[in-house]
Amino acid sequence: MEKFIPDESRLKSVEENYKAVKFNVEEAAIKAGRNPEDVRLMAVTKTVESPYINRAIELGANLIGENRVQEYLGKREELKLDGVEKHLIGHLQTNKVKYIVGEVDMIESVDSLKLASEIDRLSQKKGIVSDVLVEVNVGREDSKSGIYAEQLEELIYEIAELQGVRIQGLMTIPPICDSDSEVRKYFESMYKSFIDIRDKKIDNVNMNILSMGMSGDYEAAIASGSNIVRVGSAIFGARKYF
Ligand SMILES: *Cc1c(COP(=O)(O)O)cnc(C)c1O
Repeated sequence: MEKFIPDESRLKSVEENYKAVKFNVEEAAIKAGRNPEDVRLMAVTKTVESPYINRAIELGANLIGENRVQEYLGKREELKLDGVEKHLIGHLQTNKVKYIVGEVDMIESVDSLKLASEIDRLSQKKGIVSDVLVEVNVGREDSKSGIYAEQLEELIYEIAELQGVRIQGLMTIPPICDSDSEVRKYFESMYKSFIDIRDKKIDNVNMNILSMGMSGDYEAAIASGSNIVRVGSAIFGARKYF
């Protein structure tokens, strides 16, 4: 493979962007009356070349999210991942589970018992417990993965039975909205589900993480109780798809 030469001006803008987003996340937490340390900033690295990701890591990014199994496995040798937590955030096909179990710290996109069972099977085979989030399709969009809110509780009880999987919380991608107040309704509804399930204290289920908010709406998500915001383009610039 030819060595990729990063663009200096893009490295510079990643640096500025990362600092600005980090600052905004802290400000949004403070404005919401929350402790800034309770909100983690995830750098979403899909389609981004390694030198730009490493620049964000140098600046303190300690949580990265990748969408595709293959892309992550192909890139990670070039990444400075010491002390960095890795989450898979993209839709995961059952036949790809074998490549990713044990390779990331969390799978945020679990939305069916079938997928959870395959993660369970392969985790038990490796002698590990895989941390997962359950992805909710809060806007009930055909184009999105995730379980509908009214089926969430049942799915969580089913997954709770699996000894190789541990639910740590919920993740969502809301519909594209025209205003903060519109997107806030989805975030508030997620927060309510999160609290409702947490209060049930289900065995083998932790409700610690509510992963929601992206480049366009992370401040609104923080106001609604998110504790992981997943930010890609606001840090790395617009994505080019190949
Ligand atoms: C791409 C992606 C993000 C980040 O999106 P941006 O709008 O670029 O911040 C967050 N979450 C998931 C699941 C994604 O696929």
